[in-house]
Amino acid sequence: MKPDLIAVYRSLQEKYGYRNWWPLVRGGKSVYLEEFRLRDRTAGEVFEIMAGALLTQNTNWGNAVTAIGRLKENKWLTVKVLDKIPAGKIAAAVKPSGYYRQKAKKLKSLARFIMEDGGGNVLFLKDLPLSEAREKLLGVWGIGPETADSILLYGYGFPVFVVDAYTKRIFSRLGFFDKTHAYETVRKYFEDRLVRDRELFMEYHALLVELGKSACKNSPVCGECVLNMFCPSRV
Ligand code: SF4
Repeated sequence: MKPDLIAVYRSLQEKYGYRNWWPLVRGGKSVYLEEFRLRDRTAGEVFEIMAGALLTQNTNWGNAVTAIGRLKENKWLTVKVLDKIPAGKIAAAVKPSGYYRQKAKKLKSLARFIMEDGGGNVLFLKDLPLSEAREKLLGVWGIGPETADSILLYGYGFPVFVVDAYTKRIFSRLGFFDKTHAYETVRKYFEDRLVRDRELFMEYHALLVELGKSACKNSPVCGECVLNMFCPSRV
């Protein structure tokens, strides 16, 4: 029998504690602001989360942090500046995040979108219904469902469940779906069964990433996994 989604969440929370995602970058390092529990993100913070969600595509967070740190050092991490400066210059700054030419173009396409649709105001999406904000983000070149949902949840605080490769791997091993299930099917599965609470969704995703990195890896280390009593795939 499949375990209850909340039982999975509680076990992970007990093991890994409060994750407090999404980190911002200060002095070239990730910082996890406790105050995020109590307030909405500022426009600058939302834009940093947007840029981070693009820069961490196909690479680890540490490389994205270096790239964000370099953009910040140059004072380029604003919509107006990224819209204006040439892609080549941005590419050189974000090189540590890999696929840097593409990522520079993605940052420019994001900045252009905010200039055109939001008149330069990053927070304009916050006032839209979730489905409309999501559709708009998905229309931006370089933003797929995982990136859009990370931005919507961690930047704007919309209650949307972020699905990534770790989510699919862990829940396919737990017997919920097959790894090939479509993104939207998996997202809907969680959203239909959990209370639509943004803090729950923020923590749940962060905890799954922790489990995927520490125990439910490509070669799972089931002896160290807090979910092994639930798992039909444990070895
Ligand atoms: S018991 Fe093993 S396969 Fe199952 S979720 Fe844990 S690490 Fe993954």
